[in-house]
Amino acid sequence: PPVLAIIGRPNVGKSTLVNRIIRSREAVVEDVPGVTRDRVSYPAEWNGRDFTLVDTGGWEADAKGLHKRVAEQAELAVDEADAVVFVLDGLVGATAVDEAVVKMLRRKKKPVLLVANKIDSSAQMSEVYPLWNLGMGEPYPVSALHGTGTGDLLDAALEHLPETAQHGGMVPLGGPRRVALVGRPNVGKSSLLNKLAGADRVVVDNVAGTTRDPVDELIELGGEQWTFVDTAGIRRRQHMASGSEYYAMLRTQRALERAEVAVILLSVEEPVSEQDVRIVQMALDSGRAVVLAFNKWDLLDDERRYYLEREIERDLAHISWAPRVNVSALTGWHKDRLAPALQKSLANWEQRIPTGRLNAFLGELVAAHPHPVRGGKQPRILFGTQPSTRPPTFVLFTTGFLDPGYRRFIIRRLRETFDFSGTPIEVQMRVRE
Ligand code: GDP
Repeated sequence: PPVLAIIGRPNVGKSTLVNRIIRSREAVVEDVPGVTRDRVSYPAEWNGRDFTLVDTGGWEADAKGLHKRVAEQAELAVDEADAVVFVLDGLVGATAVDEAVVKMLRRKKKPVLLVANKIDSSAQMSEVYPLWNLGMGEPYPVSALHGTGTGDLLDAALEHLPETAQHGGMVPLGGPRRVALVGRPNVGKSSLLNKLAGADRVVVDNVAGTTRDPVDELIELGGEQWTFVDTAGIRRRQHMASGSEYYAMLRTQRALERAEVAVILLSVEEPVSEQDVRIVQMALDSGRAVVLAFNKWDLLDDERRYYLEREIERDLAHISWAPRVNVSALTGWHKDRLAPALQKSLANWEQRIPTGRLNAFLGELVAAHPHPVRGGKQPRILFGTQPSTRPPTFVLFTTGFLDPGYRRFIIRRLRETFDFSGTPIEVQMRVRE
């Protein structure tokens, strides 16, 4: 879903406003990997549209250099947002800190909704007029405490949020394939992007946004056009402020939502860090096709290569089915291997096993390895189908619940029998009485 960020200096009432907005929907708190401190992102809904609300509250405890820190933290949030709600204390007016934020916002060119909070009565409405002087458009008088004015604010905010298709912005078939290049900071994403794009780099405007950064790039690989999604985030210089890992993860999640296939970039310098593992998990959870790429191969000697392979076997066993490409973004070595890997993963992601073949496979498997008997009962698999692809999803009709171990066994055999490299596969069960 599109992202709406709420920024503002301490004590202007951001948290109260956030609570107001998410209360309309039972405030289920989103569990985003990478957040160890306060949660900052919430699923929200207004007039039937879903969006993600990013709260920048609770960050500004640091008294020293408050000015700079508030602006920095706000900037991180703004970079990741589709639209921004900038909250001021309507009774205090614009302070020096607020003006620093305004300057930053002007540079960013994102849609901004200026909110004058703490306007609890109509008598206080006149306090709002001086805020026109900030040049940020119409100020919205709001009382987060009483809930007045928030409806108008959200109506206006939604006008600035891009419409996303249902199912997490799943892309329609046709057109260039959409690739998310994901990986933790410094693995070489932006270097690889530059190497791949070469002189042919084309910047494509985001379809919905007119004021946004161009987020996607068309790149030709292996004689085919590919859309690399959300590359603006990759090309932007990384902020080293606290919370940047959180935003990196949020960005990863959004890129995956918009893509069909993910290139998970790792670096041989430190192949499988905790953050790498989280990113791999996000890619798996997204249900997208996957390619694993190991960058900085030019740095490797024989001994380190040995340890690298051990580490990969140990930490990436659960994704050992993904095609792997070793590359050097620095020299361009093996960059031409990426396109075939992407093609293969995508083809398997869209693979459909005919029902007849699937049931022949299941018949043989069950005959050779029947489900173990549990409490005098032995669940049987009656029939299987593959109702959908992207990723391949199977449904097994059974006479009882299958052991998780047996289900894993079936998945393993599916992978061995058919080529599902590069794609997650899902197996669901329907128990018939
Ligand atoms: P990002 O944060 O993932 O976009 O990473 P960058 O592309 O900014 O790269 C981080 C650092 O790694 C930079 O200093 C790059 O020059 C360096 N780097 C990237 N790719 C390679 C590579 O293939 N080999 C070597 N030796 N260094 C690389």
